[in-house]
Amino acid sequence: MRSNSNKEALDEVRQVYADLASRPIDRNCVRLKECCHFKLTGRTPYLTKGEALLAAQALRATGRKQLPENATGACPLLEVATGNCLIYDSRPFGCRTHFCAAAGGPYARREVLDLIRRLEAVDESLGGAGPRPLPNAMADALADI
Ligand code: SF4
Repeated sequence: MRSNSNKEALDEVRQVYADLASRPIDRNCVRLKECCHFKLTGRTPYLTKGEALLAAQALRATGRKQLPENATGACPLLEVATGNCLIYDSRPFGCRTHFCAAAGGPYARREVLDLIRRLEAVDESLGGAGPRPLPNAMADALADI
């Protein structure tokens, strides 16, 4: 992984997450984790390269070298033993914006479009190929770092 430019890129991803958190968009997520069960929801988050690298770093920090298996069809980052997200503080943008109905529903794209554009710019700067399904994006990011 190239160091300086990648550090700046990942700092920008963190800043996008911080800017998102400071937006006054009212939702009430109580971590039902329904949205983490891809097979049930039929929806898998798509990650830009910067999001995937940041999540991969967070997973490595837990001592894991590879994406865990999850035979239930849930997100591989949802720990089977605890039912918690292994990388919650570094979870991707989609996990921060696609709320279930009980939490108030997903953010409207127009509410966060500027932040999506910033993530796309980071993706381009890292030579990414645009947003990709979480398992694929994460597997490649883990091989990259
Ligand atoms: S990354 Fe974490 S919050 Fe996002 S779907 Fe996976 S387990 Fe859920």
